[in-house]
Amino acid sequence: MATLDKIVSLAKRRGFIYPGSEIYGGLGGTWDYGPLGVLLKNNIKHAFWHRVVNTREDVVGIDAAILMNPKVWEASGHVQAFTDPLVECKVCHERLRADQDEEIKAHESSHKGQKVQWTEPRKFNLLVEAKLGVVEDQKSKVYLRGEITQGVHVNFKNVLDSTRMQIPFGVGQIGKAFRNEITPGNFTFRSREFEQMELQYYTEPEKKKADKWYEYWKEQRMKWYITLGMNKSKLRFRQHEEFERAHYAKDAWDIEYDSPFGWKEFEGIHNRGDWDLSQHQKYSGQDMSYFDQKTGKKYIPYIIETSGGVDRAALFFLIDAYSEEKNRVVLKLSPELSPIKVAVFPLLANKPELVKCAREVYGLLSTVHSLLPVDWDDRGNIGKRYFAQDEIGTPYCITIDFDTLKDNTVTIRDRDTTKQERVKINTLAATLTKKLQ
Ligand code: ATP
Repeated sequence: MATLDKIVSLAKRRGFIYPGSEIYGGLGGTWDYGPLGVLLKNNIKHAFWHRVVNTREDVVGIDAAILMNPKVWEASGHVQAFTDPLVECKVCHERLRADQDEEIKAHESSHKGQKVQWTEPRKFNLLVEAKLGVVEDQKSKVYLRGEITQGVHVNFKNVLDSTRMQIPFGVGQIGKAFRNEITPGNFTFRSREFEQMELQYYTEPEKKKADKWYEYWKEQRMKWYITLGMNKSKLRFRQHEEFERAHYAKDAWDIEYDSPFGWKEFEGIHNRGDWDLSQHQKYSGQDMSYFDQKTGKKYIPYIIETSGGVDRAALFFLIDAYSEEKNRVVLKLSPELSPIKVAVFPLLANKPELVKCAREVYGLLSTVHSLLPVDWDDRGNIGKRYFAQDEIGTPYCITIDFDTLKDNTVTIRDRDTTKQERVKINTLAATLTKKLQ
């Protein structure tokens, strides 16, 4: 079974995720993605962009700046309302989020029978501040964006003016967000720097029409995780109670995963109503309305948002794929997400004729875009190499052996079944491409 400890250890050992700035003792709530982690994350982002943006006529993408005019955050309500309730333990002065029952209980029991008193909750703003400017005393305060959403909404008019998009249409974006989380934890689950992948979908401001798109996108996003291999029985929707809803939300549902630390949100689907565009119109003085040429109506559209965390998705894909079998640990990642698609081995590293032939096969496969990246391994014995590739989720391993030298065939070994088949080198690239589809 995947415990969080096992995932953390595998992630560190095999180069998926390291603690941020580790040699300096780390920095709470920050993580660095290693050689395999960056491939996994890129594959997740690519799968999002492909399905949500590139293959849809009604969606375009943008990449807005992380730093924005601070007025954006006043307009969006984040300066005022992007808060969590913070309480302080009067015994040890540790600060925790008052709405996180598990952490509160764990903290109380860490004081072993001692009566723990908490301060009254006070609002703690999650926006991370920074300073910009060349002269020390003229520096002006800016915020590192707390969500990537606003970068899309402030460009609503630009997108309309520079494309042929007509409502209903969406704008996708992927990028970093920053939150001064009171209690980062559960590995990358709650970090202070993380990436979001979002769609902002603009609809007519009519409840019925917006609700229709809301249901549509809820279903699409759940399907996306399942198509990428996540176990259906570990996924569920949960609707926010009224008191939990963010200040902008008319309705909010989370997609949750049954993780080793409980059911947890990793994507939110929100009906933001006309909140964002109305607020930006008010604060910027610019007209943010849409003119519908078909009906002659002018209005501020509603927004249906799907907001997923790339890091939480990566963590839950890893947890979901982790499996312990008799003699091996195997990450049963969907090949689309696997960091390495194919590994090539010469049976013996000290036989130059095998190594030469394996190098040729490696070179051949490395020119095929859909098979990249291809790994090379000639250390230890074949069993160890299979073990190492299974643990990082490589779907196929190719071995060049003495038969290869006679008949130009190699073995393809399947990660999930461990079965091997022999194929001719001249059909290898096509066979693998087909298997990886
Ligand atoms: P939570 O209740 O867990 O703090 P949230 O409801 O504030 O999350 P949203 O504002 O809806 O989260 O953000 C959308 C998505 O961004 C989340 O579903 C999650 O995947 C991701 N996300 C938000 N905060 C963090 C964080 N601190 N670390 C990693 N990912 C995050």
